[in-house]
Amino acid sequence: MDKIIIFETFYNPIEANIVKARLMDSGVQCFLSDENTITINPLYTQALGGVKLHLFEKDAERARSILQAEEGEIPLTEEAEAATVAVCPNCGSSNVGYVQATKKRFGPFTVIVSLLLMIYPFHAKKTHHCFNCQNEF
Ligand SMILES: [Zn+2]
Repeated sequence: MDKIIIFETFYNPIEANIVKARLMDSGVQCFLSDENTITINPLYTQALGGVKLHLFEKDAERARSILQAEEGEIPLTEEAEAATVAVCPNCGSSNVGYVQATKKRFGPFTVIVSLLLMIYPFHAKKTHHCFNCQNEF
């Protein structure tokens, strides 16, 4: 029998699922525990010590190198955003753009897991910017 260890503990169930998906995609068998309790009531997270990711001890080294590997980046579709025409409430100009307030981009695993879970794990803060009067709204 191979020994199963707690590979990592997460305080964010979504993050735990992302890591689990990455490992499963790479052929590393693993599972989460205490996940449902924490998803239902995040206040239990501290009490339970977080969501635990378990895997075989023999896979631990491989799992670590998989997680350290550089994540590719999927750019958000700018076209879809540009299609939303807006007018500046300050000067009435339609010369506005929809820009991402933060530079954070999502890795492919985040996107995949989000789609699977039908949720949006992170809030990409977006804002309209008027190129005429520099107003942001
Ligand atoms: Zn304006």
